[in-house]
Amino acid sequence: WPQTPKEFFAFAKSNNVEQVDLKFVDMLGTWQHCSYPIYDLDEGIFEGGFGFDGSSIRGWQAINASDMLAVPEVSTARLDPFHARPTVSLIANIVDPITKENYSRDPRWIARKGIAYMKQTGIADTCFVGPEPEFFIFDDIRFSSSQRGSMYEIDSSEAAWNSSRTEGGANLGHKIGYKAGYFPVAPGDTLGDVRADMVAEMVKLGIVVEAHHHEVATAGQCEIDMKFTDLLTMADQFLWFKYCIKNVAKRHGKTVTFMPKPIYGDNGSGMHTHMSFWKDGKPLMAGDGYAGMSELGLHAIGGILKHGRSLLAFSAPTVNSYHRLVPGYEAPVTLAMSQRNRSAACRIPMYSPSPKAKRVEFRCPDPAANGYLSFTALMMAMLDGIQNKIDPGEPLDRDIYEMTEEELSHTNVACKSLTEALEALEQDHAYLLKGDVFTSDLIENWVKWKRENEIDPVRLRPHPYEFDLYYNC
Ligand code: GLU
Ligand code: MG
Ligand code: MG
Repeated sequence: WPQTPKEFFAFAKSNNVEQVDLKFVDMLGTWQHCSYPIYDLDEGIFEGGFGFDGSSIRGWQAINASDMLAVPEVSTARLDPFHARPTVSLIANIVDPITKENYSRDPRWIARKGIAYMKQTGIADTCFVGPEPEFFIFDDIRFSSSQRGSMYEIDSSEAAWNSSRTEGGANLGHKIGYKAGYFPVAPGDTLGDVRADMVAEMVKLGIVVEAHHHEVATAGQCEIDMKFTDLLTMADQFLWFKYCIKNVAKRHGKTVTFMPKPIYGDNGSGMHTHMSFWKDGKPLMAGDGYAGMSELGLHAIGGILKHGRSLLAFSAPTVNSYHRLVPGYEAPVTLAMSQRNRSAACRIPMYSPSPKAKRVEFRCPDPAANGYLSFTALMMAMLDGIQNKIDPGEPLDRDIYEMTEEELSHTNVACKSLTEALEALEQDHAYLLKGDVFTSDLIENWVKWKRENEIDPVRLRPHPYEFDLYYNC
């Protein structure tokens, strides 16, 4: 792919490109875009950018004068497979048109500052990130009348849950039961070809895919695993990943959701995030401590566990996220480390003896997270743990789901709601402000947005299940 403005236009020409599609990430982690016919553009776009109205972007209005610039980064150029006409895509950074300063609420700028800060500490020069996003593929009822694995599954009442599993309910034939999707072959797995199409588009974009499979939940829960790469590349790539998945699903008459817990009584969708630090081409996480970790690696885990509750405000950032973080569904509930326990927040995978593979898996995040903010916050917690030599405590190698309330009360429990996570972030964020990586403005704005636009509107609405409970009271 092109690395200079000159190469960019040569590349566009040789691919008969007709338009440039400019993309940038908003505060919540969704791509926004605008397309421009290429005949009128020149190399100046990489300096001057493109103007847009920042007041209409979620979480950015109010404070800022509305005129903003989106300045593309040439190294992000890719042929966009989801436009009918030949189109090259560019990812942009957000800049103030007058001061030319990077916009403090641009999540990509926060990730860039985070990487600069990591280098400046001298601890590491690279932070590798490997997320495992899970998602549900449903039949799109706009295109299909089939009920199998369809949106009809989304019914939070117990009665619907039971009837969908028995004769006469919504189920029109035998299908894989709840929590039984991992991972029988076709025709049990009906989505292998859809995933293969998703992967094919990813590969064309330069994403290295390691595996794809059906996940544990019934009704189309899937996982596609990307090979780890550096933090900023991965944050960009995670948005390409979602874009490919949603657009390929649409081609197949399907729809995808990355919401963490769409179905009551079945597994939710996580985005376990594998993290490791490297310096001068050498891995820093392996050593002779617990589970083959180095002292640095264990301190990094100490940082994650210490700041875990506050991290959740970015890594499990929706009201819905806390329907997932409950016992019994392979999601973590306890801020502890373990080399095998999947109910602990930090797992140290033991698949490979290679020091290069040594890493920590933080299991709390879910794919509703903004990758730029979630990965960077996690890295900042790990750096804080290393700087302050934070002890991760005793490993928890028992099944936490089997522990009694009394035993669990001695462990550090993850937040039970977004309300708790936001309060934790308000109380504990000095580690994020180091090196001006996160700003107080961004944190305050995040908390305010989440309370006003997510927590309150959900809280103010009667839940469907309340009708089961109270209608006949
Ligand atoms: N779906 C589970 C979660 O919510 C994870 C299953 C797995 O271990 O891959 O985290
Ligand atoms: Mg999984
Ligand atoms: Mg995992």
